[in-house]
Amino acid sequence: MALLQISEPGQTDAPHQHNLAAGIDLGTTNSLVASVRSAIAETLPDQEGHHLLPSIVYYTKNSAPLVGHAAKQFANTDPLNTIASVKRIMGRGLKDVKTTGTRLPYHFVENEGQGMPMIRTVAGDKSPVQVSADILNALKKRAQDTLDGKLSGVVITVPAYFDDAQRQATKDAATLAGLNVLRLLNEPTAAAVAYGLDKGAEGVHAIYDLGGGTFDISILRLHRGVFEVMATAGDSALGGDDLDRVIAQWLMRQANIDDDAEHHQIRELLDVARTAKETLTTQETAPLNIQLDDGIQWQGELTHEQMNELIDPFIQKTRLPCRRALRDAGLTVEDISEIVMVGGTTRMPRVREKVGAFFKRPPHVDIDPDKVVAIGAAIQADILAGNKPDDDMLLLDVIPLSLGIETMGGLVEKIIPRNTTIPVARAQDFTTFKDGQTAIAIHVMQGERELVLDCRSLARFELRGIPPMVAGAARIRVTFQVDADGLLSVAATEETTGLHSEITVKPSYGLQDSDIERMLKDSLEHAQEDVATRTLREQQVEADRVINALRAALKADGHFLLKQHEFLEINAALDDLLRVKEGTDIHAIKKAIEHLEEITQSYAQRRMDSAIHRAMKGHSVDKFTEKTDYA
Ligand code: ADP
Ligand code: MG
Repeated sequence: MALLQISEPGQTDAPHQHNLAAGIDLGTTNSLVASVRSAIAETLPDQEGHHLLPSIVYYTKNSAPLVGHAAKQFANTDPLNTIASVKRIMGRGLKDVKTTGTRLPYHFVENEGQGMPMIRTVAGDKSPVQVSADILNALKKRAQDTLDGKLSGVVITVPAYFDDAQRQATKDAATLAGLNVLRLLNEPTAAAVAYGLDKGAEGVHAIYDLGGGTFDISILRLHRGVFEVMATAGDSALGGDDLDRVIAQWLMRQANIDDDAEHHQIRELLDVARTAKETLTTQETAPLNIQLDDGIQWQGELTHEQMNELIDPFIQKTRLPCRRALRDAGLTVEDISEIVMVGGTTRMPRVREKVGAFFKRPPHVDIDPDKVVAIGAAIQADILAGNKPDDDMLLLDVIPLSLGIETMGGLVEKIIPRNTTIPVARAQDFTTFKDGQTAIAIHVMQGERELVLDCRSLARFELRGIPPMVAGAARIRVTFQVDADGLLSVAATEETTGLHSEITVKPSYGLQDSDIERMLKDSLEHAQEDVATRTLREQQVEADRVINALRAALKADGHFLLKQHEFLEINAALDDLLRVKEGTDIHAIKKAIEHLEEITQSYAQRRMDSAIHRAMKGHSVDKFTEKTDYA
């Protein structure tokens, strides 16, 4: 299929040669690398047999950084130089890192004016991109050692919620690690590929990803051999950690432990809770042993019934995003054919049972939920590297938040609505607001709300040199284009002159899953109020337009064309409009505009007449001049 060629340039087809390719799941906690060998996709272990590589880098003064298990052991003794969870700050600004409460224990410093957070280590200041590059480098080395050759390209997975900045940062990290990125792929899409859903019947599938701290649901559609992500939703603060907490709280009540227990005691309770939870995945009961502070040993037992009672509300909470994703996709559960489970928490029988009940069919659980994403990425990498010429699968993704531009009145005009499949290009026409306006500012926005104030600013640029025209005469076409990796470019063209200006959104670093969540939630909560505000702002902009035009006219010829009492009446109406436009009474503004238009009607007529008169006079003068010239 021709569309496949939109994948990155630089990959030349050598038909009879096997190009080494790998899929990388670059995770918050753990990362994996997988590859297709003898037609089987499998994750690649390190020399000790570990498949998971902890996403941790330990920096030292004079030697290369340690990555993974080797780095993990320094987390307690040298925390400031042992960098973990860097995925949480990929593509985010220093301000976000300081305020969003990720509470990462590092020493953050600013990178000269760029706003990108740097982590101070003994090996120098490291950006999240550099730390990720070190992790990718370790995976690359593992793959090249195991596969015995140089990787021609990789597919790296990212959360479906990753925005432009986060995707760009991930790509930068890969470049820094010397990897050729064939494509960034959404994690849920990779999971669907791992189960070979692309080889099955056409239909709509749900990917349910419940990990330690986050929940993601994605709705995918397979249509004519093409995979498309129809919708995504989630909860960035819901996962196995919540289950550990609620079990630990129950333990405290059982063992009569005070609420103000010491930190180490709570730590231990959480560990006991987690172990018991995981034990119940395969056992009938889980033994409980707690060393109390007074030296006494408390013993008990956790049963499925007891645990289910505690955790059911949390499992129940995943239904809300599921419903939202279905709604965004315009579907009901009946439309879903297959459900794929991803993330460690989906190992729990209760989770499988509840998910099965919600979607009314048993979910796919055969592939290890930790490895499923890397395996899907490997399969996709193998195809993109040109090893399966007959396979013509193209994966599409969606943009997580609407993209648009700022218009008059501080309003946002959406150009590409969220959940639109990418790649996509959309255009919309705009015009000038004032007579003789020679420049227009394009402010690129992201978000669901109606006001600029409530959305996120992505970039600004200007289109300058527009020839002076009357307001509304210029036609400025603004084109938004999002490529297969979710990166945005915006162009503005004045159609009558061909004047052109564009920007590739070098995204301002700084947005995380929870921000997207919040922005979506806000937009739902404020939907009504936003519509009201939009109507008001639009009315105010209209008032400004009328006021501007009238003032210009009065200045030009008000004194010639108007009688004294007319002039006064119009000025009074103008003052009236100026006053009500500052308020919030939409109806009053509308009435004031109507009134002004009514009483200036004959003035407008006179202006028109006088303009025609002048034009005719000018015409005859020209002719006269012409004649004299020839004379
Ligand atoms: P993340 O993607 O958020 O890093 P993972 O997908 O690795 O998280 O899932 C980690 C979570 O899965 C933890 O809460 C862990 O307790 C849970 N988990 C792992 N194995 C099991 C199991 N056998 N039974 C129940 N929960 C499990
Ligand atoms: Mg995960």
